[in-house]
Amino acid sequence: MNNSSLRLLLIDDDALDRQSVMRSLRQSAAVCEIVEATNAQSGLAFASEQHFDAILLDYRLPDQDGIEVLRLLRNGPFESVVILMLSGVDDELIAERCLQLGAQDFLLKTEVTGRGLIRSVRQARQRYVIENELKESREQLRQLSEHDQLTGLINRRGFELALETAVARVRRSKSNLAVLLLDLDDFKSVNDTLGHEAGDRLLIEIARRLGTVVRDSDILCRLGGDEFVVLMTNFEHEDQPALLADRIVVMLQCPISTGVTEQIITTSIGIALLDVSTNNGDDLLKFADVAMYQAKQDGRNQSRFYSASLQETVEFRSLMKNDLYKALDREEFLVFYQAQINSVDGSLGGMEALVRWQHPRFGLLSPIAFMSVAEETGLIVDIGNWVLRQSCQQLKEWQQRFPAKCSNLVVAVNLSAIQIKQIGLAKLVFDVLAESGLDAGNLELEITESALIRDPSSSVAVLSAIAEQGIHFSLDDFGTGYSSLDHLKLFPVTVLKIDKGFISTIGDSAKSERLLMAIIAFAKALEMKVVAEGVETKEQAAFCIRYGCDLLQGYYYSRPIPASEFEAAFLL
Ligand code: C2E
Ligand code: CA
Ligand code: CA
Repeated sequence: MNNSSLRLLLIDDDALDRQSVMRSLRQSAAVCEIVEATNAQSGLAFASEQHFDAILLDYRLPDQDGIEVLRLLRNGPFESVVILMLSGVDDELIAERCLQLGAQDFLLKTEVTGRGLIRSVRQARQRYVIENELKESREQLRQLSEHDQLTGLINRRGFELALETAVARVRRSKSNLAVLLLDLDDFKSVNDTLGHEAGDRLLIEIARRLGTVVRDSDILCRLGGDEFVVLMTNFEHEDQPALLADRIVVMLQCPISTGVTEQIITTSIGIALLDVSTNNGDDLLKFADVAMYQAKQDGRNQSRFYSASLQETVEFRSLMKNDLYKALDREEFLVFYQAQINSVDGSLGGMEALVRWQHPRFGLLSPIAFMSVAEETGLIVDIGNWVLRQSCQQLKEWQQRFPAKCSNLVVAVNLSAIQIKQIGLAKLVFDVLAESGLDAGNLELEITESALIRDPSSSVAVLSAIAEQGIHFSLDDFGTGYSSLDHLKLFPVTVLKIDKGFISTIGDSAKSERLLMAIIAFAKALEMKVVAEGVETKEQAAFCIRYGCDLLQGYYYSRPIPASEFEAAFLL
């Protein structure tokens, strides 16, 4: 709007009043173009057809109440136009009401001057512009606060708002709603190794890919870090969320180029559906989280549905976790020993130390019941170190009491992946040997290939340092995981433990028997000692002996038993 031209619409039924307003305006310096309307209907018609900078509206009109006209103007598409009310009578209440309804000013006809009118219009326009700018910047701020800067997706706050609205709407319409919670697998280590900038680029690409598989009606958000969520509504079949999850899992498996390397980022997804048991969006997100956690537990790179039984499992795990924290202090752990028998003469050749937990309520627990919780919490480090110390002390004590039978015995202790990664593992092992007085040659540490695979180079260094002192390493569960020749070459392992899964096929199929024979021959060729695990029958024992296993371990000879029983059965 420039100073020289103002287009005004004057709506007033009284000819004299109109003339007086026109006269005043002409006297002012401003040039205005004025369109006159003599009633509400024609005024509204003009307003909808032409552009005006301001409308001067008489409060009292013959065909319609001025207030009503004001309301129509304000609610219509004339939002930006300045409306000044003109009135013959000075009434505070009416003036107030007009301003509330969106008039910019309320002027007494008797007091109208051209200059006053123009000033009023100009000020009102100015106010409008400023208000509009404020509104826009508020909107921008809102956008910013509800969007993630990096990916441009809606952020957690935006998601919470969207979820709240969607839950209310879906409850009313009794339609479907699902939340898919995605957590990228091991993204932290990607960030740590490639740096944050590359990490950011990966996140942007992942957000882009996700955008290509979700439907227009789905809401895709980044909750923060490496967590994304899809809010699905308007779907017919309950399996649609799982189908989408599958597509996401498959799509993310395609390598992403970081410029330097190709990276594969997988994701674990938890799915929760809104049903009678979910009260609100918060619950839904929590349930999706429980399911996502389970997807991680089950090996990542997959999706899981939330269910009540899953909730129970999770609650049980959390209970176990709490108890496990106290178990070491309360001395609830025990070490059981399982004999390893020499295949040549049936004498005792060694034993494997296997931990047990005497749980105050659940009784004696096998490590299968608590090992994953122990690893997840990192408690396995303290537990494992305790088992190591306990086993070394026990063997030393037996050596002192039963020197003839025990001086050449070897105790095998399991090492979990997390223990291998602990700082100072080598020093710990040497300290334990020194404290107990056991010779290095009487200790064997059992490791699995899966424990080594994550960070082979640093594991090789630590394990080699330990092996140099005369401690043996055995490769546990051979045949269940990678069974890679590389690992045998790389790591200082001298003992191969053939998994019980293999031993149990003896007598079942000629092919697996031949495979077993080949494995034994191959280990022998590498001058490794071979231990057969899970020997349960006479037939299995005979087979292992015939084909050259050095040591036999399994229920056929003995179950893992407490130290006192072991002593009675094998040493006395
Ligand atoms: P593993 O190292 O493979 O231990 C052998 C498992 O097979 C033991 O289960 C043992 O009781 C069982 N077993 C032995 N002979 C037979 C048999 O003839 N038939 C069958 N079906 N099973 C047999 P356990 O004691 O329940 O231990 C399970 C796993 O827990 C172990 O598997 C090991 O991976 C882990 N574990 C046990 N103690 C420790 C420990 O102190 N530290 C760590 N990190 N892991 C441990
Ligand atoms: Ca073992
Ligand atoms: Ca094993």
